[in-house]
Amino acid sequence: MTGFSETKTERNSKRSVSILGATGSIGCSTLDLIRHAPGKFEIIALTGNKNVKLLIEQAQQFLPKFAVIGDDDLYAELKAGLSGTGIEVAAGKSALCDAAGLSSDIVMAGIVGVAGLAPTLVAAKRGAIVALANKECLVCAGTLFLDEIARSGGTLLPVDSEHNAIFQVFNFEQVNSIDLLTLTASGGPFRTMSIKDMAKMTPAQAVAHPNWKMGAKISVDSATMMNKGLELIEAFYLFPVEEDKIEILVHPQSVIHSMVSYKDGSMLAQLGTPDMRTPISYALAWPDRMTTPVQKLDLVEIGALTFEKPDLDRFPALILARDALKSGGSLPTMLNAANEVAVGCFLEGKIGFLDIVRVIEEVLNRTSNNAPNTLDDVSLCDLAARKIAEEVISSLA
Ligand code: NAD
Ligand code: MG
Repeated sequence: MTGFSETKTERNSKRSVSILGATGSIGCSTLDLIRHAPGKFEIIALTGNKNVKLLIEQAQQFLPKFAVIGDDDLYAELKAGLSGTGIEVAAGKSALCDAAGLSSDIVMAGIVGVAGLAPTLVAAKRGAIVALANKECLVCAGTLFLDEIARSGGTLLPVDSEHNAIFQVFNFEQVNSIDLLTLTASGGPFRTMSIKDMAKMTPAQAVAHPNWKMGAKISVDSATMMNKGLELIEAFYLFPVEEDKIEILVHPQSVIHSMVSYKDGSMLAQLGTPDMRTPISYALAWPDRMTTPVQKLDLVEIGALTFEKPDLDRFPALILARDALKSGGSLPTMLNAANEVAVGCFLEGKIGFLDIVRVIEEVLNRTSNNAPNTLDDVSLCDLAARKIAEEVISSLA
């Protein structure tokens, strides 16, 4: 088993949970499940970054011990909003790490991007159950992250729907009997669009995902299909299989969340409506299952499930991600950082949709490959790639 230990808390006792990125899509879905399971969970810490109003509302409702806002400038507003509640408040990057370090059974890693790496590593180091939505952690620091989980005897549970699906049907006792992992992909909002039309797509069009309601960054990643590229790298770290044993299959209905093929010809899949509350609930209740308000799958209503090969000409992000994974070293870290900068600039209207992948490709062409071994190495590598990405972007203007 890679990264999954037997650690679990008493099944019938209340589980304590901290949520990093409570104000985001994953964070709100996590709180919604907890709201539907009265008496089952206790909230230790909640964190947000800019949306202080929502963080205050959440803290007033769930009464954590600790509420942290990433943006220092919002500290006074958070403090005023929670005065008289007895909730301790703090702001800034190191306070995010403090939140992750407080004793809790589970840490939901729901911050977007590399900003989530340091606090999630703190949770990994203290041996918590890390419910990992933040795929960028594994993409940019996979080995480092898994080493910390192994050293602490912690537990890593994948929340990303594809990886959660694979986790549910992957037989860790019979790894040699596994032939292939199939990551399904919706294909995003531009699945059938020509490159010429994609060039004109606006941030609002890119963010409008056909099946899933998610934060802006991952929605754009789905539109370029870089999301599936990042998930390929994530899968490589989560499951003990080689890179060439992980394939990507477009499945526009997003009903089959991923599959594992065994050497006897069996293919095991996990199905469900496209609702992140199912994989999140799996991590919250693991190794049990909990009742959720998720709409049940009606296969008769759906009628047909379809599948296509991904079109690598229209979605070259998939090639870049696979190449970065094959080369290893610092390339996945660089790929991730360049993607974060390019997606951010696209969302601000500074570059076009097709420029996102062009920028990443150029960054990867311009960098040397040195494997990052420590968190400092990863940060340096991330910063170097961001700097090059900004240079590339200013040369586009
Ligand atoms: P989101 O944008 O809705 O929320 C992001 C959260 O991170 C917010 O709480 C925000 O305050 C916080 N945050 C952002 N920047 C921060 C910073 N610099 N410091 C501290 N906190 C910061 O994003 P999301 O859709 O919830 O995605 C979160 C993570 O989960 C991403 O890594 C994404 O890839 C992954 N994920 C999301 C979904 C989904 O359905 N939303 C599915 C699978 C995986
Ligand atoms: Mg996913």
